[in-house]
Amino acid sequence: MSKAPAHPLVYKAKSALHGNGLFAQVPIKKGQKIIQYIGKPVSSEESVRITDRRYKSAEAKNRAYAFIYQISKDYCIDGNVPGNLAKYINHSCDPNCESYTYRREVWIRSLRAIRPGEELTFDYGFDPIEGMASPCSCGAKGCIGYVMAKAYRAYFKKHIKPLMESS
Ligand SMILES: [Zn+2]
Repeated sequence: MSKAPAHPLVYKAKSALHGNGLFAQVPIKKGQKIIQYIGKPVSSEESVRITDRRYKSAEAKNRAYAFIYQISKDYCIDGNVPGNLAKYINHSCDPNCESYTYRREVWIRSLRAIRPGEELTFDYGFDPIEGMASPCSCGAKGCIGYVMAKAYRAYFKKHIKPLMESS
């Protein structure tokens, strides 16, 4: 892997959440466009193969670290390319950033003001199937223990998690 280039707003460092993370270098304002999640466009079918391959490899302990960003039903970005600093941003159930797509580009922007040295996080937005394959230990209040989009968390916690725990 080549060394990721320097970025004016963020830097990569060891994270208390998982592996490496991305941290604010300077004060970041609420709603600020921070960094693009760059990568190689791939079809959904190809992304499943890539995810499986990475999931089986030693470093990918769970699916959250396959570096595939789903843009639409049939189009994804493989973010495991040199220079994609944004791939180091960890998931949190109470994130300070969000991802959004603009003209088929993926960008990360802040949801609130972020202090220098604070780790950036966003909601990976996984569906329940992907989510159950990806344990979360973000430590946020309301963390359900899996990387799962906010929209699914309440239902999962109420109806699915008890079933998993009783079996
Ligand atoms: Zn969590």
